[in-house]
Amino acid sequence: MAILEIVKDPAEVLRKKARPVTKINASVRKLLDDMTETMYAAPGVGLAAPQVGVSKRIIVVDPQDGSGQLYQLINPEIVKAEGWVEGTEGCLSIPGMIGDVWRYEKVQVVALDRTGKKVWIDAEGYLARIFQHEIDHLDGILYTDKCSNLRPVPEGEEEAEEARAAQAAEASADAGVSAEAEGQKAAAVSAGGEGAEPPAKEE
Ligand code: ZN
Repeated sequence: MAILEIVKDPAEVLRKKARPVTKINASVRKLLDDMTETMYAAPGVGLAAPQVGVSKRIIVVDPQDGSGQLYQLINPEIVKAEGWVEGTEGCLSIPGMIGDVWRYEKVQVVALDRTGKKVWIDAEGYLARIFQHEIDHLDGILYTDKCSNLRPVPEGEEEAEEARAAQAAEASADAGVSAEAEGQKAAAVSAGGEGAEPPAKEE
């Protein structure tokens, strides 16, 4: 395996519609493994092939939520979606920034696995958010196209940006599932992190 270079915005490849994979061979499986190693090294919770300069419909995702689940998906598609929730996201191709994005709360993803077998994945909350972010990459869409409150990662926390954004997203997404009030609390927590209004004022 090898760690690949992550392409940064505004690279052209990030704006192209990626091509479907027509044949799953050893080179596709090597790309999946290299992308996985690159994602863990970053560290990140997801990576799409255009982010390593390959315009193919391939993503890897590991929510790192303790489930130990790694997804290596070829030609992923969202076939069902419901709910609507806002959460914080960052992107390895846009270092140093985070923003708030509305996403479906639940999605069903259909894809091929590394052996070419068709798989259906039901995801909700944080995992559903990551799938939507990564599949957007395959269509040349970046989260900054649809986010609000795009802001720098708070000073001194640059290295932890992906994990930070991920945790904020998780908090918001989980809270959004249960109640609007919880969502506001989560929003306050992430706002507090950037030195804005203290969360206590929201209560
Ligand atoms: Zn991204």
